[in-house]
Amino acid sequence: MANRNVEFYQRLGVKRLINAASWITVYGGSIMPPAVVSAMEDASRWFVDMHDLNAKAGQVIANLTGAEAGLVTAGSAAGMVLEAAACMAGSDPAKVWRLPDTTGMKNEIILHRAHRVNYDHNFRAAGATLVEIGNSGSTNEWELADAINENTAAVAYIFGPRRGGALPLDKVVEIAHERDVPVIVDAAAMLPPPENLTQFIEMGADLVSFSGGKGVLGPQSTGILAGRADLIEAAYANGAPNSDSIGRAAKVCKEEIAGIVTALEIFVDTDFDAVMSGWRDQCVLVIEALEDIPGLRVELSEARPEMLESMSNAPRAVIHFDQDWKGPSQERILQMLEDGDPGVRVNSSGFEGEIAIIPVNLRPGEEVELAQRLREVLTNG
Ligand SMILES: *Cc1c(COP(=O)(O)O)cnc(C)c1O
Repeated sequence: MANRNVEFYQRLGVKRLINAASWITVYGGSIMPPAVVSAMEDASRWFVDMHDLNAKAGQVIANLTGAEAGLVTAGSAAGMVLEAAACMAGSDPAKVWRLPDTTGMKNEIILHRAHRVNYDHNFRAAGATLVEIGNSGSTNEWELADAINENTAAVAYIFGPRRGGALPLDKVVEIAHERDVPVIVDAAAMLPPPENLTQFIEMGADLVSFSGGKGVLGPQSTGILAGRADLIEAAYANGAPNSDSIGRAAKVCKEEIAGIVTALEIFVDTDFDAVMSGWRDQCVLVIEALEDIPGLRVELSEARPEMLESMSNAPRAVIHFDQDWKGPSQERILQMLEDGDPGVRVNSSGFEGEIAIIPVNLRPGEEVELAQRLREVLTNG
């Protein structure tokens, strides 16, 4: 069972959460394996030159992604700021200094309407102007070709949840590259499967940003950027440790670099068939504890990584409420789960009021406690 006594949180009076909602930033991201924590502690004992450390860590990222170069970032959102800055300012110190004022630079970033997510703010944070193409359900190739002009700094591509309606990445790369425009990708939540570390680079993306604190199980405040050597150099010029840069507000410390590099090395060595089957078992236990409750349909939904959407990379247990459901409303259920101690967080972002149990962040054995709490709330609420 997970350790129930964390002295620090107890001292501050912060209650524990059972996180059945996935790698969600506001619930703490993920839990680092002990080897990652000890690598961070190890790295805390010496001073090093941060340029040297960043270069060596970048080389590890390049090797694991198959990209020309790599960089540790302060999360995928920070990676997106650096992607935009790199494509607008390059490594020219005068332009690096000027951002987010983009006077004298290409500053338009083309984005599918189907890719509008809260995180596209990060491109604007660097000073870019977003140019939308397509609609929520479909996009034509000519719309992308037509949107590219002499002010286009990049075409962005975001693997969020439900990105239906966007052109496929390889088609976007083809159209953009014919016009000498780089393609920048946010693939924050697309790991696992580990194949995605190389897949988008192989498709020709010029820069790809991933979260380190989601499925990679690195420090929550880290991410990685991989791609073309000149653009990674430009991304670095636009960020920490360089003090006069747009990305300086997203600094990464030496301990975090040790943590994310170690997490990545463990990640690519992980047997994900075994991990998936453990997650499936946790779902099945929850399903079996709830399936006799009248008015509910509780079923296993398998991972669909081929959909290339975030949240499609793990199995889940889904609780559907029938027409004749007599129990508490979904709102009340979520509130009761939150109010308990430990609090419980589930995924409620479905279209039909269903509740999904996403097992990726359940600590070993926590599924038993979770199933009990769900049963209590669903039957006594
Ligand atoms: C989580 C997420 C981000 C932000 O990643 P961080 O590593 O938390 O900065 C960006 N885009 C998408 C689609 C995400 O899911």
